[in-house]
Parts: sequence; C-alpha cells; structure tokens
Amino acid sequence: MTSRARSGGFRLRRLSLVALVGTAVVASVPGAQAAPDEIYQPATWNGYRIYLSPSDQSNGGCGDYLEKTNMHKVAHSAATGTTMGSGSLQDRGYKVRIRHGTLTEGVARSNSWPSDRHIPLHSNARSSTQCGYSSGGTQTYYYPGSTKGEDLARKLKNLLGEVSPGSGSREFVATNSVFYEMYATSMPAAYVEAEFHDWTQGKNWLVDYPSWSWRIGYAVDLHLGYPR
Ligand SMILES: [Zn+2]
Repeated sequence: MTSRARSGGFRLRRLSLVALVGTAVVASVPGAQAAPDEIYQPATWNGYRIYLSPSDQSNGGCGDYLEKTNMHKVAHSAATGTTMGSGSLQDRGYKVRIRHGTLTEGVARSNSWPSDRHIPLHSNARSSTQCGYSSGGTQTYYYPGSTKGEDLARKLKNLLGEVSPGSGSREFVATNSVFYEMYATSMPAAYVEAEFHDWTQGKNWLVDYPSWSWRIGYAVDLHLGYPR
C-alpha cells in the first residue's frame, strides 16, 4: 500500500522541524487554571482550529484498559502523529487543541478559542459488563439538526468503522443534553465512541491507535474539503 493510500490522500508539504517535533504551546489562560490545554501549531496553518476533547472517564475494560488513559493517547496521536507525514491533524495544517481541564472548562475554551470543530473522543461499553461483550463498532453522535455535525459524524464513523472490528458502526442524533459537550458548544461537533472496550477485539483495536488515529484527520479533511 502506498503512503498516499495509508494516509488518506494526505500529501506532506513544507516539511519543517516544527511539525517534526510537534511543539506544544501551553495555552495561557487567565486565572491560573490547574490544567491548561495543549495547543499544537502546524507548519503552515490552513485557517481551521480543531478541538479534541478526550474522555476523562475512569471506565475500565478488558484487561487493564482505562478509557481516559487510552483516549488521551488517541487524541495526541491524532493531533501530532508519531512519524513525519503520518497524516495527523497538525501535518494536515490544522491548529489542534487538546483538553486537559474539566468538561466545563473545555467547552468554555473551545467556544472562546474559538474552535471550528469540536470532537469528543471516547471508547464505548455496555453498562453491565466488564469484558463480556461480543460485538461493537464505531458509533458517533451529532447535535440535532446540525448538517455539518452530521456530515463530520458520518465521515468519522465511516473512516473509523471500516477498520474497527465491530459490526455495529453507525451515527446517531445526540438526543438529549446528557451529551453536554454537544449541547454547550457553539460550533459543529461530532462525538466519537471509537469502539467498545468491553470485548477483547475492540479493546485490542483501541490500544492499537497508532494504526488508525490518522483517520480522524482524514475525516476532518474530507469534511472540510482539504483546506490548504
Ligand atoms: Zn495531553
């Protein structure tokens, strides 16, 4: 498979050391917040800001899986990648901000930055089982009536769902304000449940995120029409 195919049509331009090392710029937030976000700058900005909000839920799964630990790693990998030309959001020209504060702080920061798209990143589970599920899939959510949110949610579901092991991939309307980040943010948003962590195949795929995290940038690029 060519690198072009692997990275979803992404072609690297303007190599620079800045992109290579993934320089993190700590956001300066008035009031000395305990946990500042990280902001990653691209070598050449395409004009769009993407806010990634990884789960901070202490949900366990198969083995020693911990949702908040893994999904934070997924966010970093999607933002900066692990190798040059990996198709990360930064490589594709996006400014990327990763939430480190509370949900409330994250929503406020995303709204005021302001981000152009807001993407919570989670792994899924049936409520009653620790490691006893038998299927899964990628499930995404969008705010009712948001055509841009629906488009991004569908593209994320398509591109993650074609490689996640479960068979239940689909997108949903976020039907109520339980989806706080979908209801309190002011830009199009797509909430990602990448796979279920309470079945072995799903958990194994979730921790293999370096193989698929670039698909998040690919979906954003397809959704926004490859801004450059
Ligand atoms: Zn971080």
